[in-house]
Amino acid sequence: MLAVSALVTAVPAGAEVCSGTPPAIASDGRVLSHLPYGDAPPSELTAVPADLAVRGCTLRRDVLPDLDRLLRAAATDPAVGGRILALSCHRSLTRQGGVFCREPATEADTRAVSVAPPGHSEHATGYALDFAFRPRVNDCPDAEACIAATPAFRWLRANAPLYGFEMSFPVSNAQGVKWEPWHWRWVGTSVAEPGAARARLLFATARRRFPASPGVDTAIEVATVPPPPIYLSLPAFTDPRAKRRRRR
Ligand SMILES: [Zn+2]
Repeated sequence: MLAVSALVTAVPAGAEVCSGTPPAIASDGRVLSHLPYGDAPPSELTAVPADLAVRGCTLRRDVLPDLDRLLRAAATDPAVGGRILALSCHRSLTRQGGVFCREPATEADTRAVSVAPPGHSEHATGYALDFAFRPRVNDCPDAEACIAATPAFRWLRANAPLYGFEMSFPVSNAQGVKWEPWHWRWVGTSVAEPGAARARLLFATARRRFPASPGVDTAIEVATVPPPPIYLSLPAFTDPRAKRRRRR
């Protein structure tokens, strides 16, 4: 197995913080339960077709063929009962930092249950995305449960693995991250699919220690491919609200 630890050292401690003391980095590279992923190189990202996304959305180029097949299959299947669309795809470190620091009054470890700190989000890999389900579920006190009960989600759960997608954070996952029925990552339908081996290497630790459910082809270990490229010189993240305060 190639050294995934190379990915760990590529994530700068300065990317973890909103303000104040940075949270501790565990010996396995995790911060607030989230594994380190760095960021995807812009040259590997491409736009999801506009008719398959709620709004502008980019992913690694290798993901697009399966995502296209998945969402077009969903659109023509009466069992879906609506539409499934890409909602939130690749997020840069700066964007992820803005999401993570949105509620600074809440303790970082509480926020981290549902949002990864920058440098530790699957979204930054360009292989993960959140899906939107239509018709939209409104006025629901339990968003996860209500979405999970929709025909569109049930179709996705049954079919997404056939197109190379797996649910990263299933119910009661051992990683300690909140169940997110809308969040899936791409690892390809088989290791022979273009790009799948690299994606599987990037997620090797997550897949081994905190298995996805439903998962894809979990028995295969990748041992002979180079790791996917990631940024090695990342800008330190600063809280965008702090900048605004200084300008005032
Ligand atoms: Zn997500």
